Amino acid sequence: MYSKSEMLFGQARQVIPGGVNSPVRAFKSVGGNPVFMQHAKGAYMYDVDGNKYIDYINSWGPMILGHAYEPVVKAIQEHAAYSTSFGAPTALETKIAELITSMVPNIDMIRMVNSGTEACMTAIRLARGYTGRNKFIKFEGCYHGHADAFLVSAGSGVATLGIQSVPGVTAGVASDTLAAPYNNLPAVEELVAGNKDEIAAIIVEPVAGNMGCILPQAGFLEGLRKICDENGILLIFDEVMTGFRLARGGAQELLGIKADLVTFGKIIGAGMPVGAVAGPKEIMEHLAPAGKVYQAGTLSGNPIAMIAGYTLLQTLNDNPVIYDQLEEKSNYLINGLKEAFGAAGVVYSINHIGSMLSVHFTEYPIIDFTAASAANNELFKRFFHAMLERGVYLPPSAFESWFMTNALTTEDLDTTIQAAKSAMQAIK
Ligand SMILES: *Cc1c(COP(=O)(O)O)cnc(C)c1O
Repeated sequence: MYSKSEMLFGQARQVIPGGVNSPVRAFKSVGGNPVFMQHAKGAYMYDVDGNKYIDYINSWGPMILGHAYEPVVKAIQEHAAYSTSFGAPTALETKIAELITSMVPNIDMIRMVNSGTEACMTAIRLARGYTGRNKFIKFEGCYHGHADAFLVSAGSGVATLGIQSVPGVTAGVASDTLAAPYNNLPAVEELVAGNKDEIAAIIVEPVAGNMGCILPQAGFLEGLRKICDENGILLIFDEVMTGFRLARGGAQELLGIKADLVTFGKIIGAGMPVGAVAGPKEIMEHLAPAGKVYQAGTLSGNPIAMIAGYTLLQTLNDNPVIYDQLEEKSNYLINGLKEAFGAAGVVYSINHIGSMLSVHFTEYPIIDFTAASAANNELFKRFFHAMLERGVYLPPSAFESWFMTNALTTEDLDTTIQAAKSAMQAIK
């Protein structure tokens, strides 16, 4: 059933470390071999062995309107003929900057980079340059990309592989990163009190999506906002996952909390490699060449990436009903999953907001990384493979969120629910 994928994985491991270009893809957490993809359209992916999957990863978020979304494909094809890169400014960069600053609250300016990692790395450098302070606070199980300073108590692949401290990250760099449990304000207050006037920023996923999906508890983000205001600290919302997914204006809009800097990735590039950092003029103009905080990129603002992102964002901006539809589809799926798990008699906890959700097999609420780690990962593994065999492609780790696409039909959701029922009966 997966013979070509197995062969390709064997070949890949000879020339690519671990056979993949990003760790979670390797299926290490769930075991078995990764499936190699051939093509995808709408809500479906097709592998090299001819198997079809309903996709709940959607390239980890970008394919919010489905794979090979026609207007995006057309725009890319058209613009590719004008050259794939100039290394000089284009009007398109201003156009997408204007669109994004009109969609997202509390930002005047945006700087384009090539990944979410770069965006978060730049946001921290900017916060340090702006405040003249070196340390920052992050949360256990949150993931802000793979820059050195973030690989302390990180989520996503770092959590999936169970890496506690990363070889190659110096103690000097790690010592400026302070970590607190998610949803734990007293721990943050303690860190701030113990490092008075030394903390440049608090960076947080306003809805955590890299240890499964974990919602901020009532008052958590408000509390961070207050702590930052009282101590001259910048609040950075890492909206690489939540930006343009939870609402047009991301978590800031949905949850009504103002951040000082926001980072983007994933949806912003419609599947092309794009990230961005945004904020008020007063802070953003500290970036070079307006200011002295250096940041650059040979391919930043790449025309193909920009037209892809612009086309997708414009569609989202013009059709806010998409967010209601995604929410309805998520609720429909979750009700079906609850039936499937209930019928199998397993304990479970489903976290959900908008079009992000995750399933942990545990009787306890999942509010932080410790809780997520304590869930039954063995059962998740078996569930993952049973679903894969039934044509449903879930994230290959319980430490990742499921991302809904609006290309899903009710029929797809019913097929998924039937697969979950049959999978649970087979593995329980
Ligand atoms: C994916 C992600 C990143 C990293 O983005 P890359 O494009 O993979 O570098 C950073 N922060 C969050 C919240 C993410 O989900």
